[in-house]
Amino acid sequence: MTGEPLVLIVEDNPRNLKLARDLLDYAGYRTLTATTAEDGIELARSHRPDVVLMDVQLPDMDGVSALGRLRAEAACAAVPVVAVTAFAMKDDAARFLAVGFDAYIEKPVDVRAFPAQIAAVLARRHGARA
Ligand code: MN
Repeated sequence: MTGEPLVLIVEDNPRNLKLARDLLDYAGYRTLTATTAEDGIELARSHRPDVVLMDVQLPDMDGVSALGRLRAEAACAAVPVVAVTAFAMKDDAARFLAVGFDAYIEKPVDVRAFPAQIAAVLARRHGARA
């Protein structure tokens, strides 16, 4: 293990992608970005990020299907995956957790809370390994 945690951001909206990347870069994380699920899955396979932020509405695949693909990959089956969604419905958090996401973040992201939300997911993962 070397360097800061690597975060893979999968998001097709350029503004949302830039915001997430800028916030995480500023907070000291390393970042990788993809704008399609297929590219994200390929990057996850090749770079083994510490956490994946998965927009649930992507041009080629919905986030739940993309999550299933990641879980089916030996290289990234255990990586925490955070659902990032603009749906502002009350039941969404429970629904995304129920299908296997490790956490849920609503868009637009809270620029102050966002880095800490990612840190919390990473802390849970490290805790689980201890
Ligand atoms: Mn999208």
